[in-house]
Amino acid sequence: MKKVVLIGGLLVLTAFLSFCGREQKAATEVPPYTVNAVRPDADGTTRILLYYDMEGISGVNQMAQTGFGNPEYPTGRDNLTQDVNAVVAGLFAGGADAVDVTDAHGSGNPEPDVDLAKLDPRAKIIYKEASFDPYIDLPETEKYDAAAVVCMHAKTGSPGFISHTYNGGCDWIINGKSINETEIIAYSWGRFGIPVIFASGDDVLKGQLEYMGWLEYVTVKKALSWTDAELYPLDQVHAEMEAKAKKAVENLSRAKYVAFTEPLTAGLRTQFPADHSILEGVPGINYKDHTVTFPAKTYREAYDGIVKLIRVAGLGRLKLMQEYLAQSEQGPQIIKEVRAYMLKKYEDWMAGKWDPDAAPVQEEKKDEKYFGAK
Ligand SMILES: [Zn+2]
Repeated sequence: MKKVVLIGGLLVLTAFLSFCGREQKAATEVPPYTVNAVRPDADGTTRILLYYDMEGISGVNQMAQTGFGNPEYPTGRDNLTQDVNAVVAGLFAGGADAVDVTDAHGSGNPEPDVDLAKLDPRAKIIYKEASFDPYIDLPETEKYDAAAVVCMHAKTGSPGFISHTYNGGCDWIINGKSINETEIIAYSWGRFGIPVIFASGDDVLKGQLEYMGWLEYVTVKKALSWTDAELYPLDQVHAEMEAKAKKAVENLSRAKYVAFTEPLTAGLRTQFPADHSILEGVPGINYKDHTVTFPAKTYREAYDGIVKLIRVAGLGRLKLMQEYLAQSEQGPQIIKEVRAYMLKKYEDWMAGKWDPDAAPVQEEKKDEKYFGAK
């Protein structure tokens, strides 16, 4: 009896040791990303860059509230401004010396989506002379100690309210990890050792960011479906935003930044309405399970490659347009007109009247100022 127990114990011990060995082996493999301690503040001022989106606004549960030109848009804009102001108040209360704001939504509004007339005057929107992508063209990184993101949403394919990543149906996969827009920003800033310390959005996004234990997160609504959410009381949400933004700055020295291990493997997985299946079978292109995967030396290269693939995946929308035209009453006429237009362009090209490869004509816009996503 004793012997059996001893042998049993040895078997358990051997199994345990080989399990540990496997653990050790896994630990020596290169991790897909790293979580790192922030460097102490060097210049003595705490400057935060605040990003805002619109799908994760506390008072918003209709898509129309997030698109410029819709009758519902002003209510979205007003609620957005209230959310931003609550977070700005908290950041300053926590010890921030400056809060700069950038637009990460791009509703089509020629003005920033946040209402500047009602924005806390201590917060300054960033204006630049040239157009920039706030996710990747980070302005003056050396000035910032942290980034905060508000009114964000969950990633493509997840059950969040208006879940998407950059574009509908586009799932960003870097080093095997499917990421949301908050993570796109976090890994982008991580290149410079700068952490994201605050985020707000729905309950689904909260789950996707749980591994960032240092991040102060405010759940503003519960996603019921892609098009509906149960809104939480605004007073309660704004009070929580202010308190957690304050805490985020107070605990800044204990925050972490995330970084993808380079070189990277990047990919775009598509689902309806995005579709880049046209690339399947092209020699040199790795297409499998609705996913194009490619190697990238840097995060920037991965980012740019994915954005280009997203343009290809726009074919999914074109297909839909064709399908709609084919069944609509005016469809045949419009298709005829498009063919005639194409023929005319072709004749003009042949006649040397224009060059399809020429760089697009830049309109002289002397006073144009850029504030983030367009
Ligand atoms: Zn977004």
